[in-house]
Amino acid sequence: MTLPSESTMATLNETHDPALRSWVDAANAPGSDFPVQNLPFAVFRRRGTGESFRGGVAIGDQVLDLAAAARSGVFVGAAGAALEAAAGDKLNALMALGPASWSALRLALSRALRAGAPQETALRSCLVPQAQAEYDVPARIGDYTDFYTSVHHASNIGRLFRPDSPLTPNYKWVPIGYHGRSSSIVISGESFRRPMGQALPPGASEPVFGASRRLDIELELGIFIGSGNPRGEAIPMAEAESHVFGLCLLNDWSARDLQAWEYQPLGPFLAKNFATTVSPWVVTLEALAPYRVPFERPAGDPQPLPYLDSPANRGEGALDIQLQVELQTVGMRAAGLPGAAICRTSYRHAYWTIAQMVAHHTVNGCNLQPGDLFGSGTLSGPTEGEAAALIEMTQGGKKPIALPGGESRTWLEDGDTVTLRGWCEKAGATRIGFVTCAGTVAPAALS
Ligand code: CA
Repeated sequence: MTLPSESTMATLNETHDPALRSWVDAANAPGSDFPVQNLPFAVFRRRGTGESFRGGVAIGDQVLDLAAAARSGVFVGAAGAALEAAAGDKLNALMALGPASWSALRLALSRALRAGAPQETALRSCLVPQAQAEYDVPARIGDYTDFYTSVHHASNIGRLFRPDSPLTPNYKWVPIGYHGRSSSIVISGESFRRPMGQALPPGASEPVFGASRRLDIELELGIFIGSGNPRGEAIPMAEAESHVFGLCLLNDWSARDLQAWEYQPLGPFLAKNFATTVSPWVVTLEALAPYRVPFERPAGDPQPLPYLDSPANRGEGALDIQLQVELQTVGMRAAGLPGAAICRTSYRHAYWTIAQMVAHHTVNGCNLQPGDLFGSGTLSGPTEGEAAALIEMTQGGKKPIALPGGESRTWLEDGDTVTLRGWCEKAGATRIGFVTCAGTVAPAALS
């Protein structure tokens, strides 16, 4: 049998070689999230300056300033053109170029940042310490779509909202999603106000208006779309991943009391659209190639319909990305206690893959555009410790979680900081990471 040619699945190449070392020493430190094998993209500037944001690539504890690198003329051809596209205040122009350009730039960066590279002198002057950098949302996000790809999350939530039929009949056939709000997507480190809204207290017949009392998190991955598709033309599975630039961490803050009252029949609205936090660094699909794993369906579950199926997706359509949620209260901060890990899971448990999300989103002719963002949906795994939202961890607010220092939480309180972490590691490959996606709850704007 001949497999169809699929340009979508990144293959290993010289940029993934675990033997590579960089002339930036910190990139070679064991456990670094930013070795020369990663090379994620962000937009940044020196903190506290009025400088323009511009593209940057993480290497060790430094940011390579791509605008400065472009001015130095170090790269030519496709890599040079991609470098120019990455010099602006958002990454949309780079994202629009497509995978051949992204790969050319990655290869050129990999070669130029390796130990002994002749470009070291030119590029050393383009480094900014990450400790001095601040970041912005990496793309001008036209549209944000939030999926629901963890069957474990869907089942856990379903049991709370609909005990009789936790998993809706469509779940195993359709990659469920809804259109979110892009204007309130914020960069890691920003705080947001606890939302106001309507909620129906337990046993009440009329709603009350006030600050949300059931504020929650959702551990997700963000998926940045690269090149788009013309309206009316679906992206088939075989091409789906060639339209994906890369991944970040995403926290889809959720007001569960507002959500429970408002979500029928059209889904969440004010419960979700007040803030969504993304991490600054976008790890490319190519960098994630060593961490691909097969997409598998449990025995007895329906196989995807043909438009959501491909040999490459079955073979290596899923990704093994380690994920963790940490919670730090005001009290813990005052006592010098670090954030406590309250969830540890992997993206490999998702029921639908990235390629399936892209193929499904466009099958009706919907056009995606460079810089569009997908949320993966809350990435809960199969066991209790892998629950990726407080509503699951606390069984709907009934079972508080204990924190170091003697505090406990069912829902978020003012001043709480939630930090998501993501990384990939396995024998025979270099560890790469996303670093963090953090946000802090500020008090509601009570009038
Ligand atoms: Ca979500």
